[in-house]
Amino acid sequence: MSPYPTLYALEFKEHPEYLHARITASFLDRTGALSYLSEIFLECAKLRKKKLRLERATPCVMQRDELYSTMDFIVSVEKDTRIAFLNAHGTVAETLSHIVDYGTKQGGRFRYFQEFQEAENWLLEDEKLLEDLDMTKDCEKCSDEFDSNGTVPVALLGHLSEAQREEFYRRRLDSDLCNQCLKSTIIERQPE
Ligand SMILES: [Zn+2]
Repeated sequence: MSPYPTLYALEFKEHPEYLHARITASFLDRTGALSYLSEIFLECAKLRKKKLRLERATPCVMQRDELYSTMDFIVSVEKDTRIAFLNAHGTVAETLSHIVDYGTKQGGRFRYFQEFQEAENWLLEDEKLLEDLDMTKDCEKCSDEFDSNGTVPVALLGHLSEAQREEFYRRRLDSDLCNQCLKSTIIERQPE
């Protein structure tokens, strides 16, 4: 028996060019998300699909901090899969589209949708329309070259508070500082 109760339901539908996965959940946290994402990615691998429409049919959402680290996980394992995140409910749209943008800037081939058909159109678009962005920058503070779409090592943020980590992820997108310098500014800015 699993020590963690299954609080979600997954449905799959195979299309000629992509896999559609629909997740329904009464509660979501990172552990649950990693569990269903692993199931979905396994199904993609079994069916040899490199395109996925991932539909969340649930109004609930994880804590922001957990959303970012879950997106880091998705980027780390499915960077080359084109994923249309479909949020048909339209709830927490701003948060979710921001998280998907975050994943895209980390190098993921992802996009956020609220319309079923738009998501499919995008999945069926010509591959050549996707351009690879060069995300290499020089840090404004220490001048080290860094990859602004690289994933953030978990250990780097280990001892930061939840609020600090959230700030880190939020600023990572547009910051001209490397991970280390960005982390330092966030720590220095905190009041005693
Ligand atoms: Zn730096």
